[in-house]
Amino acid sequence: MSGNRDDEVKYWSQMRQGAGALKNASIMMVDDEILVMEVLKALLQQQGYSNFTLVSDSKLAFDTVLDQQPDVLLLDLNMPDVSGFDILQQIRNHSATQFMAVIVLTSATDSETKLKALELGATDFLAKPVDGSELALRLRNTLAVKAYQDQLAYYDGLTQLPNRRLFLDHLHWAIVCAQRDNESVAMLLISLDRYSTIRDTLGPNAGDSLVAQVSKRLVSELRSSDTISQSSLFDERNHLARISPHEFSVLLPGVSQVERLSSVAERLRSALNASFQLDENEVYISGSIGIAIYPYDAKSAEELVNNASAATAHAKAQGRDTHQFYSYEIDVASKQRLSLETSLRKALEREELFLNFQPQVKATTGQLIGAEALLRWEIEPGQLVSPAIFIPLAEELGLISEIGEWVIYQTCSQAAQWRQQGLDQLRYSVNVSGYQLNDLRVPTVLKQALDEFRLPAGQFTVEVTESVLLGNRAKARELLSQVKCVGARLSIDDFGTDYASLSYLRDFDFDELKIDRSFIRDITHNKQDGAIVRAVIGLAHSMGLKVVAEGVEELPQANLLNELKCDVIQGFYYAKPMSPQAFLDYWLENKKEKKSV
Ligand code: C2E
Ligand code: CA
Ligand code: CA
Repeated sequence: MSGNRDDEVKYWSQMRQGAGALKNASIMMVDDEILVMEVLKALLQQQGYSNFTLVSDSKLAFDTVLDQQPDVLLLDLNMPDVSGFDILQQIRNHSATQFMAVIVLTSATDSETKLKALELGATDFLAKPVDGSELALRLRNTLAVKAYQDQLAYYDGLTQLPNRRLFLDHLHWAIVCAQRDNESVAMLLISLDRYSTIRDTLGPNAGDSLVAQVSKRLVSELRSSDTISQSSLFDERNHLARISPHEFSVLLPGVSQVERLSSVAERLRSALNASFQLDENEVYISGSIGIAIYPYDAKSAEELVNNASAATAHAKAQGRDTHQFYSYEIDVASKQRLSLETSLRKALEREELFLNFQPQVKATTGQLIGAEALLRWEIEPGQLVSPAIFIPLAEELGLISEIGEWVIYQTCSQAAQWRQQGLDQLRYSVNVSGYQLNDLRVPTVLKQALDEFRLPAGQFTVEVTESVLLGNRAKARELLSQVKCVGARLSIDDFGTDYASLSYLRDFDFDELKIDRSFIRDITHNKQDGAIVRAVIGLAHSMGLKVVAEGVEELPQANLLNELKCDVIQGFYYAKPMSPQAFLDYWLENKKEKKSV
């Protein structure tokens, strides 16, 4: 791509006019008779076409085609040296020209010639001598088809915005121009948070409608933003693109000041905060935005996209609904993530995963009644990775089912071992990820493990979080009812952190409800939290569910929860998650204490 100013203006204006700009089309003619070409050119000029390249030397034809990439080629078949057939064949065999529109001109009327040209992939025919109106008609039709194909190939059907392919093309151009003018190009990558959850819950039509509404909001925000509309050659349709189902990008040539970019990002982000109406549902979403700037953050288009994307991932990790500039630190973090991915794939076979168990005690007496199995990963000797980091990663990488099955098996095996050591009648809880719902293997694996270790199913609890249930309800229902058939208990984890909690209680047959740590933290000084917990406990009891309070760190919290009739307490105040041996010791200690009370 060369980068002179005229080319640039032409490029952007063509892009802006998109499929409507037929008369701007570049037309190349290849014919050994110059006079024929001049006549055709004059005819087409009368129709308003103005952009011609004429080639009379057939030996140069293919190279010129390759170099100029015309919108349409008028190709004579009968030429000395290299025939039109040969050129057509070369065009169809080259990846850069294989879909080019080629109208062949032939004075031959025999069907054999026409058949051969068709076989070689001619788009249309024109008989010589050429009739002016037929020429105009065929050219217009061919260009209209091409424009339509371009529209399909370069624009997103849902939003009519440029797609990833066209975006990358724009970006290359913007960078070529920036290089020449010593300018910058900023890229904003906007990722819709929780898009797949909404699509899975409300269906693909709702997902589409959401994306279409989002794109409208972004366009109107861009149109009204001074920073953007001032930048040269700006057109929001060219600068906003949908580059994946849930990602949009914005290009800002010539803008590099952090404050200005921040203000654009903030405007776009807050434009997404108002609710969206999807049929009868009112839905809230947010966007995470990553920003990278050429030439400071990247030297090429590809690198710029990667770095903007790393910045977006970082914005998500910061809790979403925010924007982040690319930085060296983010780069390091994203490379670490990559190596973490590779390591996690090998963690199971290298036996780097193990379980800790956190005691659960009776609220009234402090007596040990069970434990939650919590997964740990020791990536290097003495170096642990938090499950808050590796569980989502395992889910994303499709490793969670295998890992989850191992957790179930290992918990049963451990329970059987403890029973031999005299530790009986305890309850064991495991966490099951929403992603494990997809293969429906959990009940089978659970049954096998319980049978193998001869454990009563009623001592086993499966914890699922609300967000699991937000996904595919029918599947969730099937899986959870099979878990109940096996005889295990069901617990709803992190209760209160999602918005549809109450309907889950109605729709699924839970035995236990775990109140999320965020409600317990301030329970002794925050009246609202106290009132919520009291109400939740009352509700759960009225539906026959036991209540577990998580994250209890202080005695006053435990006392208050006991007053509020909470059944079970889990938290650092009693015990942190611990190794199997430490758990055994805890049990012995707890038994002694209970005796001496
Ligand atoms: P969770 O299921 O809500 O587990 C409780 C988390 O709260 C544990 O964090 C536990 O260490 C922590 N915790 C317990 N008491 C207290 C307290 O008093 N104060 C504070 N600050 N924290 C407390 P952990 O072990 O880091 O696990 C984090 C999350 O990772 C779990 O949250 C669970 O969602 C997930 N996870 C852990 N193990 C597994 C597993 O085997 N499978 C799946 N799918 N997820 C797991
Ligand atoms: Ca849990
Ligand atoms: Ca929890």
